[in-house]
Parts: sequence; structure tokens; C-alpha cells
Amino acid sequence: KAKSQFIANATHEFKTPIFSIKGYIETLKDGAINDSNVNNIFLNKIYNQSKRLEKLFSNLINISKIELNELDIKFEKVLLNEIMIVLSETFSESANNKGLNLFIPNTKDMIVLGNKELLQTCFINLVDNAIKYSKKGTISISIKNLNQYIQIKIIDNGIGISEKYHNQIFERFFRVEDSRSRNLGGAGLGLSIVKHILLAHKSKILLSSALNHGSTFSFNLKKT
Ligand code: ADP
Repeated sequence: KAKSQFIANATHEFKTPIFSIKGYIETLKDGAINDSNVNNIFLNKIYNQSKRLEKLFSNLINISKIELNELDIKFEKVLLNEIMIVLSETFSESANNKGLNLFIPNTKDMIVLGNKELLQTCFINLVDNAIKYSKKGTISISIKNLNQYIQIKIIDNGIGISEKYHNQIFERFFRVEDSRSRNLGGAGLGLSIVKHILLAHKSKILLSSALNHGSTFSFNLKKT
């Protein structure tokens, strides 16, 4: 049952960009290619939809590879501050444009054991969501030095998640309210990727949230 549900969801997600690309190409073939008012606009739309397809595809492949243990993950010493800098470069502007405060700590020389690329994806997905699902307030990253671990929290005062969805939101394609996040462009894969990446790091993502009271996603990473 889970397998057919997965196929139904995947088909649905792939259908929109494929039909959209096909539609624009047909319109171009029917003459719009010679209309300088629209031809570049349509080409750009085709390009954007193909990028969306590519992202969907690579996200799904990565989830499956981690699940099947096929991803050759190289563990290395990861300087957390390098990830913090990427987060700041990636999100400062979008948070600012929405009137949100984004607090990213200086983690100095804190080092964890992991795969930098994958851990970066993990942080990016969580901060991206925190911004997407907040209309006001602050998004902050809290980093705490524990005995053998570094504890990480991504905290927002956004729209929050009702407790009844807390287990499901980490499933592939799951969105709390279909229309709400569809408008924001998500495919419901971000948290599933986070869950799988952390599993590959022998860690677990935890959620504490209530509807209209913000969300905190937390996880531990092993120190070297
Ligand atoms: P999406 O691409 O839809 O954002 P995700 O897998 O990243 O997919 O998240 C799944 C769902 O969990 C989202 O559709 C959203 O409803 C909910 N969600 C995730 N992060 C947050 C957050 N920080 N605040 C409120 N809701 C969230």
C-alpha cells in the first residue's frame, strides 16, 4: 500500500512540470516562437520547470540511495562555522525581505563528524522551511556543546505544526495542508531528506511544535 501511495504521489509531482513544459513547447511550435513578445518568456518558463524536475529527481534519488545504503558517504571533520556562513549567505536576504530576524551563531572552532555536503543540505532545508512557514518573528539556530555531541536546534515562531502531523511530516511528499505549501512551491521532500541524512549520521530529527506557536527542530551530531 505504501508503495502504491508513493508511486501515486511521485506521479502527481512529476506530472505538473512535464505537462507544463509540453504545453509551452506546443505553443511555441504553433507559432509563438516567432512572437518576440512571448517567446523568451516561454523559454524561461520551460527552463524553470525543467530545473524543478531536475531537483525533484535528484532529491528522490538521494533519499532512495541513503535508504538503500548505496550512497558512499565520506565522513570527515566538519567545521560547523563553514555551514553557518553558507546559511547566512543563502538566507539573510530572503529573511530580511520577509521582515524576519535570522540569528545565526558564531560556532567558532566547533567540529562534528559527518559529511559536509549532506549536513549542509540538512541545515538548508530546515532554515528554508523556518523562513517559508513564518510570517513574523525570529528564526534562530541554537548550538549547544554537550559531552560527546553538539546539540543543534532550528527555532522559529512561525505557523507551527499541529501535533497530529508530527510523525507524518517526515514522510516523502507529505504536506500539512496541501494547498498551503503548494503555493510556496514545496514538494514535501525537504524533511524526508533531513530525516534520511541524519539517519545516515546515526542521528534523529526531533520536533517540538504546536499550531500557531512556532516550531523547533533539533538533532545531535557527534563530536570528533
Ligand atoms: P515542503 O516542500 O512542503 O516544505 P517538507 O518536507 O520540507 O516539504 O515539509 C513538510 C511539511 O511540514 C510542509 O509542507 C509544512 O506543512 C510542514 N513544515 C515543515 N517545516 C515547518 C515549519 N518550520 N513550520 C511549520 N510547518 C512546517
